[in-house]
Amino acid sequence: MPQSGSELETPVVVRFAPSPTGYPHLGNIRTALFNWLFARRYGGKFILRIEDTDVARKVEGAVEMILDSLRWLELDWDGSPYFQSERLDIYRDVANKLLTEDHAYLCYCSPERLEAMRQEQIKRKQPPKYDGRCRNLTQQQKDQLKAEAITPVVRFKTPLDGETTFHDLIRGRVSFKNSTLDDFVLLKSDGYPTYHLANVVDDHLMAISHVLRADEWLSSTPRHTLIYQALNWQAPHFAHLPMILGPDRSKLSKRHGASNIIEYREQGYLPEAMINFLALLGWSLDDRTELLTREELVKNFSLERISKTAAVFNRDKLEWMNGVYLRQLSLDEFVRQATPFLDRDLPVSVRRPLDSDYTRQVMSLIQERAKTLAEVPRLAGFFFLDELQYETSLLLSGGLSSKAAIEAIRTPLKRLESAEVWDAKSLEDVLRALATELSLTTGKFFGLLRVAITGRSAAPPLFQTMAVLGKGKCLERLTTALDRLSALAQA
Ligand code: GLU
Repeated sequence: MPQSGSELETPVVVRFAPSPTGYPHLGNIRTALFNWLFARRYGGKFILRIEDTDVARKVEGAVEMILDSLRWLELDWDGSPYFQSERLDIYRDVANKLLTEDHAYLCYCSPERLEAMRQEQIKRKQPPKYDGRCRNLTQQQKDQLKAEAITPVVRFKTPLDGETTFHDLIRGRVSFKNSTLDDFVLLKSDGYPTYHLANVVDDHLMAISHVLRADEWLSSTPRHTLIYQALNWQAPHFAHLPMILGPDRSKLSKRHGASNIIEYREQGYLPEAMINFLALLGWSLDDRTELLTREELVKNFSLERISKTAAVFNRDKLEWMNGVYLRQLSLDEFVRQATPFLDRDLPVSVRRPLDSDYTRQVMSLIQERAKTLAEVPRLAGFFFLDELQYETSLLLSGGLSSKAAIEAIRTPLKRLESAEVWDAKSLEDVLRALATELSLTTGKFFGLLRVAITGRSAAPPLFQTMAVLGKGKCLERLTTALDRLSALAQA
């Protein structure tokens, strides 16, 4: 394969080149990650370049969000970020060179004319493209238009026939008919370059060796190839990354869950889990391995194992993976990570700051169960609340009559009042013996106690939960459950 040779021949320099026209989503960050992994794998450079040449579509705060996302995921870039808006002179010079060498021309067509032309083409069911009106203006026409003081754009003179071909490291040979490409704009009338011009100029000047970018840019690559040829510049290697589809196999979008990568942080995903998950969206080590650390990814990443077919985003897999990474944390680290979520999401009635010893004990029971940090306050809430909210009928969901349930709470309540030791082991001993004494299956008995103690039917192991909650709270909750059942029986 040509790629193995070419990867190693040149020093690897790659770039992540987002446009701040929106907040970075999963697909953008997957592109960043693949570039970063490739650079780190081959001891190369990873450049960050903000492609902010579309003034009208610029979104406030997007640049900060891009930097924040990369920092969160520890995708560190080399040197300072470049901003294309600070390099306008460079693009203008190249546009002038292309003009002088007859690879480009000035176009004076008004936006209104272009729009009317587009509508007409759509009506005739033709693909919209510039009709080349200004391509062959006579000197006299040019002088006249200049005199009218219309600010022209610069268009590339695309060959009218033939094909433009390039090699893609993932897809192989790719070819486009020049007749489909039209005379695209290089420099806009506001003096800003288009994506095509700025992207090529910067990839050249920054000595980018490999362009790893999303599939959607494939149709831009023949245009870029033509610009490289016109300027007599060596084009970088191209690799277009497979699309990411939603579970319903349509292009991944907001409908499929969090759209902006920072939302995943807010939902309690760990950066390491995100990295692992994103790496497998279009790349694999083999056909089995799901869990890979950042170091393992860096060691093994290669273009050869990027798939040609689209990747499918699977949220369940992400949650599962995040759960795995959460369980791998030390308890202290888990507590540290979970605390902001508890502070943010526990009901306001819970007094802050939380008691740190108690929180640590609670977290030791929750860590096993949480798939995301945002889930933690919900899973742990009953440990912190003074009063539980639940339907009394939940106490009877195991199928006991209210009379039997009353008995099944009153007895342990009495027995536990005099308990001197309050740990999981002694609680288990006492309560197991009681199940036999009351002739109840442990399933029914413990199920009932679980609802009384936690207000829900699924919770961490009962005896450990009771041990952490402490005697006072447990007795209080059993008493409340008893009162609720008695009231129900009398009603
Ligand atoms: N500015 C483009 C983007 O937003 C860069 C595409 C490329 O990598 O060439 O994705």
